[in-house]
Amino acid sequence: MSADFDVAVVGGGLAGACLAALLARHSGIEAARIALFAQVPPQPPAADSPPDVRVVAISRASERILRAADAWSRLPARRLCAYERMCVWHESTQPEKAGALCFDAADVGEPNLGYIVENGLLQAACLASFRDAGGRLLTHPLRALRVDERHAHLTLQDAETLTARLVVGADGARSLVREQLRLPAHTHDYRELALVATVRTQQPHRHTAWQRFLSTGPLALLPLFDGSCSIVWTLGTQRGASLRDCGPQAFEAQVESASGGVLGAVTLAGERRSFALQALAADTYVAARCALVGDAAHVIHPLAGQGANLGLLDAAALCEALAEARAAREDPGALRVLRRYEQRRRTHNLAMAAAIDVFHRGFALAGGPAAWLINGGLGVVNRSGPLKRLFARQALGLAGELPRLARVS
Ligand SMILES: Cc1cc2nc3c(=O)[nH]c(=O)nc-3n(C[C@H](O)[C@H](O)[C@H](O)COP(=O)(O)OP(=O)(O)OC[C@H]3O[C@@H](n4cnc5c(N)ncnc54)[C@H](O)[C@@H]3O)c2cc1C
Repeated sequence: MSADFDVAVVGGGLAGACLAALLARHSGIEAARIALFAQVPPQPPAADSPPDVRVVAISRASERILRAADAWSRLPARRLCAYERMCVWHESTQPEKAGALCFDAADVGEPNLGYIVENGLLQAACLASFRDAGGRLLTHPLRALRVDERHAHLTLQDAETLTARLVVGADGARSLVREQLRLPAHTHDYRELALVATVRTQQPHRHTAWQRFLSTGPLALLPLFDGSCSIVWTLGTQRGASLRDCGPQAFEAQVESASGGVLGAVTLAGERRSFALQALAADTYVAARCALVGDAAHVIHPLAGQGANLGLLDAAALCEALAEARAAREDPGALRVLRRYEQRRRTHNLAMAAAIDVFHRGFALAGGPAAWLINGGLGVVNRSGPLKRLFARQALGLAGELPRLARVS
């Protein structure tokens, strides 16, 4: 019996939707033999609506991947906000002082360091690209999964079962695919909330991504296309909940104080949302006829704004491994094919998670000596041209070994 699909991608978040679009255009697999299970296809914000509360910082590497997916050109240019500068400092100093780390895209000969983009827009652009390429978009949630030697069997809500030669779990941190196939994962509960909201600021954001590290957790102010800022503020669970629920004026005063007044007074411009934070690392990303990408494989603290970027790199690397398999007439679900993908991504993702953990422990939690040590380190980096360029390349997502689809401009 031949399978219904060559590849079934479960989850239409950023990683899954981008993977599906890449596969339909770059893997050599016929698009009609690729299925994407996107449970709740996102509603992109209307052209003239204020910025959505969920945004992500997209690196240059991710921009290239999204171009390859034929998604980038579908984004409305006026809703993208390029950030040209990044400024990171500890509460014990100020952004213009020696202890802060501030770098410009110009330091590395780039027009910007990346873009702040609404999640819903990115997902919708990837889904549209996938559909236009002839892929099969199914709005059913996956209910159960089993794998035998030849096929993955996917059971949907109405008990219908479809088969695929490869199933990809792109179904987020609480991945059903990972759970059903019993792929072990380590988790760590940060006991923190990330509070997100859009605010208007007294002073212009100057196309800069600002981040102040406080002993209670980091606060980021990210520039948005209409001149407002998106804040991502990490706090202990209780304090986070009370700031999410307090009156707007109390919230605004707290944000202004926590930002050290870097952009003056702030005014809340919409809803506040909170996300409980955890770290997750799957012990393996692959098994026979199965691969995990994005948050299904790894979840990191949002302080460096890298989670979605890592998921897009996973998508590019998996597409590349499947294209190579196709060219060599190999089975896309064969473990040896999938291992090539895992080898190219797992170490990189683990290294990023470890680096973020050092920052988190040193800065956000320890306060005292560890924070002072890292704080001093930021000053050293700021005074060293080569180190600063290295940080800028990290921010651009261009450091280290990249999948081919992330190398082409
Ligand atoms: C506050 C905050 C700020 C962040 N900022 C940034 C940033 O600036 N830059 C950055 O790179 N990253 C950032 N991240 C991380 C980033 O948001 C995530 O890493 C990324 O969205 C994960 O995408 P994903 O597609 O892997 O998973 P998800 O977005 O979780 O998508 C999973 C999808 O699978 C679907 N699904 C689940 N179960 C099923 C099922 N059984 N059947 C069918 N579908 C299913 C879900 O509906 C969902 O659509 C941030 C995270 C947080 C919390």
